[in-house]
Amino acid sequence: MDGVEEREAEFDGKAAAKLVKELRQSFSDGKTKGYDWRVGQLKSLAKMLAEKEEEIVEALRQDLDKPAMESFIHEILLLKEANSLALKKLKQWMKPQKVSSTAATYPSSAEIVSEPLGVILIISAWNYPFLLSLDPVVGAIAAGNAVVLKPSEIAPATSSLMKRLLAEYLDSSAVRVVEGGVAETTALLEQKWDKILYTGNGNVGRIVMAAAVKHLTPVVLELGGKSPVVVDSNVNLKVALKRIVVGKWGCNNGQACIAPDYIITTRAFAPKLVETLKDTLEKFYGEDPLESKDLSRIVNANHFKRLSRLLDSDKVADKIVIGGQRDEHALKIAPTVLLDVPQDSLIMTEEIFGPLFPIITVEDIRESLDIINSRPKPLAAYLFTSDKKLEDEFVKSVSAGGMCINETVLQVGNNNLPFGGVGESGMGNYHGKFSFDAFSHKKAVLRRSFAGEVSARYPPYTPGKMRLLRALVKMDILGIILALLGWRRA
Ligand code: NAD
Repeated sequence: MDGVEEREAEFDGKAAAKLVKELRQSFSDGKTKGYDWRVGQLKSLAKMLAEKEEEIVEALRQDLDKPAMESFIHEILLLKEANSLALKKLKQWMKPQKVSSTAATYPSSAEIVSEPLGVILIISAWNYPFLLSLDPVVGAIAAGNAVVLKPSEIAPATSSLMKRLLAEYLDSSAVRVVEGGVAETTALLEQKWDKILYTGNGNVGRIVMAAAVKHLTPVVLELGGKSPVVVDSNVNLKVALKRIVVGKWGCNNGQACIAPDYIITTRAFAPKLVETLKDTLEKFYGEDPLESKDLSRIVNANHFKRLSRLLDSDKVADKIVIGGQRDEHALKIAPTVLLDVPQDSLIMTEEIFGPLFPIITVEDIRESLDIINSRPKPLAAYLFTSDKKLEDEFVKSVSAGGMCINETVLQVGNNNLPFGGVGESGMGNYHGKFSFDAFSHKKAVLRRSFAGEVSARYPPYTPGKMRLLRALVKMDILGIILALLGWRRA
């Protein structure tokens, strides 16, 4: 805390303005725009990941007691993959993309040029503090921008490690880390950026967007919400529950934006589901899960209190069917399942973001679609079923940032898929090529020579020219000419 207060005194609006000025200078000098600089930075990042793995795992252990296996897979491996994909594909991504000409623009050629935006601000969250900070940084660098990263003060060990490592491995005239909390972020948000990517809760998302409006700065908002998992009665329950447990408690003990937030199943199937879930949890985390080394702790006392408030609220206190143990001193909460919670209870109206897992029951599994669609659009939606018709209906009719059928959370691991929310769960997306696109302007470029003049387009506009134009359109003469020349019609 002392450290944060000290930093707050140091980093004010003046310091933020100076920082942006320096980075803007690097950008205007063209330093970040060339292929060699981008590749050089991404290669240094790869080197950093190879050399500093242990330090990264240790910082995550300090901040969240994150199991090394989770840190390795979810934070390091995913980042390595994002980085090597960018390295492998960058030349191709940077290439102007030819598009076909149209009759109205004949004879000309057309292409889309991906242009770096300028200076990017990335504001990150505490739960995957390494991945959520550096994955967008990879995209911003790949697209040729200068970038400022503001990690979350709630994961201080990872935040200060990233500040040190990025200064050591990356070009600090174009890539910088500012540590701190609300005061520092506010100072940064007063500046003019060319794009802001914010990850965190929707309330702060609104603050970020309001600040961006002043400078007409575009934003990507990676927010959260209540992600449902629907479990049909025709599934292979053991397999389904292993995948659900690992997507919930195996992701930072439920402190993950795409972790399933609540289950919907049928009233008749619920008892069997609870019984098998209990077995699965015991197999994974033992009889006393508070002692398990495979579960992250709750990040801090505030979040512990927030989760306890959800668990202790009137409407659900007697609904616990699995778990419920807590250790305030160690900031541990056991995997806790609640059956038949009312839909208007606190636990069903607020995002849980922790190890609590309510189940709501319905008569017919198809009711689940209406329940999900009657709520704010979630970041993720999951369905376990063997019914192909229900599966298709779910994909077609449920609106969510992303979804998995018979799986949880894996959508985040495929860099060929965009990652982002919709409605209350966010706007814009990134990952893989989508990151490159998120931090690029798609510039429309039309080229032509001095040949092929069509006098009809120039004044004076005469009835004769109009008649000629109408006749050409009717006969699709231009289309025929284009076809003869082997040009595709758009
Ligand atoms: P957090 O507390 O770390 O806050 C996020 C960032 O906002 C931090 O960098 C913080 O310094 C900054 N911040 C906080 N208050 C601010 C203010 N008043 N003004 C300016 N900046 C401020 O993280 P959090 O919000 O607790 O994160 C949890 C939420 O984030 C959940 O809703 C979760 O679903 C969502 N989330 C989404 C994703 C995603 O990729 N979509 C990933 C992780 C978390």
